[in-house]
Amino acid sequence: MHLAGKVHAMFLCSCEDCQRATGTGHSAVFMASPADVTITGELRHFARVAESGFSFTRYFCGICGTPIYGQSARAPDAMMIPVGLFGAAAADWYAPSQLIFARSHREWDLVADGLPHHQTYREKGALM
Ligand SMILES: [Zn+2]
Repeated sequence: MHLAGKVHAMFLCSCEDCQRATGTGHSAVFMASPADVTITGELRHFARVAESGFSFTRYFCGICGTPIYGQSARAPDAMMIPVGLFGAAAADWYAPSQLIFARSHREWDLVADGLPHHQTYREKGALM
């Protein structure tokens, strides 16, 4: 994956879907515009209806299963990209501003002190 443009939002998500998809307590992601992202290799995907009522599709590598990005039908101009794809290079710029779906956040899943928590989606508007 190559990102050529701006990172729009950085956050942690503790929804149960992210917990299952990552096998851990939360996903650590950022939002980007599809126009700024180049992906090589073959993807597979799985869609399910999210609590918002809109379909949420997770794309993953068809060979190794690595999560590549997620996309909501309510925000087709936004890709939700796991920061782990960028390895050590992300240490320079990744700084999550909030944790969403805190209502299913687990006590054993430690996150930074003082990180704003939202019970479900971020309170104001979309995540972009
Ligand atoms: Zn989530």
